[in-house]
Amino acid sequence: MKSDIQNHFPQLYERGQLLFDQPLAKRSSFKIGGPADVLAIPHSQKELIALLIYALQKQIPYFILGRGSNLLISDKGIRGLVISMEGFQKITRDENYISAFAGVRLRSLCEFAQKEGLAGIEFAHGIPGSVGGAVFMNAGAYGGEIKDRLYCSKCLIPELEHLNSSNPILHLRAEQHEFSYRMSALQTRSLIHLSSVFRLTEDDPSAIRKRMQEIERTRWEKQPMDLPSGGSVFKRPQGHFTGKLVDDCGLRGYRIGDAAISDKHCGFIVNLGHATAQEVMQLIEYIQKTVYDRYQVTLETEIRMVGER
Ligand SMILES: Cc1cc2nc3c(=O)[nH]c(=O)nc-3n(C[C@H](O)[C@H](O)[C@H](O)COP(=O)(O)OP(=O)(O)OC[C@H]3O[C@@H](n4cnc5c(N)ncnc54)[C@H](O)[C@@H]3O)c2cc1C
Repeated sequence: MKSDIQNHFPQLYERGQLLFDQPLAKRSSFKIGGPADVLAIPHSQKELIALLIYALQKQIPYFILGRGSNLLISDKGIRGLVISMEGFQKITRDENYISAFAGVRLRSLCEFAQKEGLAGIEFAHGIPGSVGGAVFMNAGAYGGEIKDRLYCSKCLIPELEHLNSSNPILHLRAEQHEFSYRMSALQTRSLIHLSSVFRLTEDDPSAIRKRMQEIERTRWEKQPMDLPSGGSVFKRPQGHFTGKLVDDCGLRGYRIGDAAISDKHCGFIVNLGHATAQEVMQLIEYIQKTVYDRYQVTLETEIRMVGER
């Protein structure tokens, strides 16, 4: 597969945007994960579509990677093709709307909006993901969610019939994203996010800056921002707070190998140095069992497990 894909995409290869046996740990906020057989970093829609068509025709599995901040990548890594969206970086303003491509960091989106005097996306400041990953996950924090400000998106349907058509782009209006808590139509329909437009509100840049700083301060106060993690491991169970349930089970600081329940926030698992995906998985299962046995509450993971087991 490697020489074939190299011959198919010589320009990507020459630009260093087609990499083989590439370790993924450095591309994951957990700093965990084995290699990708092939890591491709397209910089245009045309390159992305060509890669997807290639993968679909050759029946090579592919995975779309944002900033890797909601993933537990297995120790054996990901077979097939990993397509990183980091090459999609455009961000523009038109009146009170900001358009951002999939690979733009949420931090950059928030800072851009702040400088432009546009409010409403501050809640996302400090979420270490990309716009694509955030729309896919309907990311949210501090009372805000992506769904509150999203106006429309452009996506791809990863099917040959659509990708080969003269107009392969799917335009989604806000309601067509079918957003709910950490869920979207991008997940249920396996859509690939290209860009989104956010509808914001004019405000004083210094007032926006103040709110962003406040959110950042709270994050550093309450979350283990200084250690590698995947953010909240579990979705919030109805009527409960995960961190409190885990803490009440006496699990604060509990560790398996270098994977530990954070001392600062029991909803986070942190990597204390050389944690493996296997250790994190074992710890997740241990937490789920302990919490269920004690409170009969099922904890569903928010972080996504990917790769070969
Ligand atoms: C310290 C820390 C704090 C966090 N705090 C929060 C928080 O407050 N709120 C919150 O909601 N989340 C939080 N997270 C989790 C995470 O940052 C979000 O889920 C984020 O939206 C993931 O974006 P990403 O680009 O890193 O996606 P990735 O982790 O790379 O991918 C996540 C999923 O999205 C898919 N995906 C990514 N890009 C695309 C695309 N362009 N098209 C289609 N699918 C795509 C991937 O295939 C994968 O299934 C936190 C994480 C950390 C490490």
